[in-house]
Amino acid sequence: MTVHRAWIGLGSNLDDPQRHVERAIEELDRLPLTRRRDASRLYASRPLGPQDQPDFINAVVLLETRLSPLALLDQLQALEQRHRRVRARRWGPRTLDLDLLLFDDSILALPRLSVPHPELTHRAFVVLPLLELAPELVLPDGCRLATATEPLTQDDLTPLLPRT
Ligand code: ATP
Ligand code: CA
Ligand code: CA
Repeated sequence: MTVHRAWIGLGSNLDDPQRHVERAIEELDRLPLTRRRDASRLYASRPLGPQDQPDFINAVVLLETRLSPLALLDQLQALEQRHRRVRARRWGPRTLDLDLLLFDDSILALPRLSVPHPELTHRAFVVLPLLELAPELVLPDGCRLATATEPLTQDDLTPLLPRT
């Protein structure tokens, strides 16, 4: 079975978000047929959409996995459920959000799964942690992430102190 490289975006803004993200980074290393290869620093960001909710903590993780994209999505959604995520309104507050950002050079448009994640290049809280880990990252369309992104305001994104 082939080993795939999967980039995951993590976010949380409820119930001690830093703890949810730090725990999820560890738990991603324990998914079946999966190993964590790298993890970015944690960042604090302003929420998308509704502003009447707490700031987010975000990070990006690189996994090596033998799971298929949909099997990995199942595992990510099960992990969200174990963090007692409740889906209320779109872009509302959540204890844990796990987005599959990239899966090798795959381009997928399935009912449950779009890869690359459609908003990837538009979000500073995804792009900057990705570039921290992989400054030379090339997207499936052959463009370098560093040049594919729109001008991003970093004003709303703050690195937390390094984790020890
Ligand atoms: P956004 O996708 O804009 O970041 P969100 O993360 O708040 O919004 P969710 O409510 O977490 O959206 O997910 C809605 C659905 O998106 C999920 O049920 C899942 O099937 C689908 N989905 C499609 N592509 C992806 C992907 N690349 N990663 C995670 N979920 C995806
Ligand atoms: Ca998301
Ligand atoms: Ca999501």
